[in-house]
Amino acid sequence: MGAKLDIPRPRSRFLRVKCLDCGNEQVMFGSASMNVKCAVCGKTLAKCGGGKATILTKIVAVLE
Ligand SMILES: [Zn+2]
Repeated sequence: MGAKLDIPRPRSRFLRVKCLDCGNEQVMFGSASMNVKCAVCGKTLAKCGGGKATILTKIVAVLE
């Protein structure tokens, strides 16, 4: 009998992400409800979906 641990993830986290195209680093909301684009080159860094952002680039740090 296996009980699954269902730990809710904290929703209010900020992620520092790095654009793989131009190297720009910026901070984004971990549960962004909109697509996040690089402020410099416009590359899509994260897509929203189901209340949770899908990160498409490198996460440099997680800021709690
Ligand atoms: Zn960029």
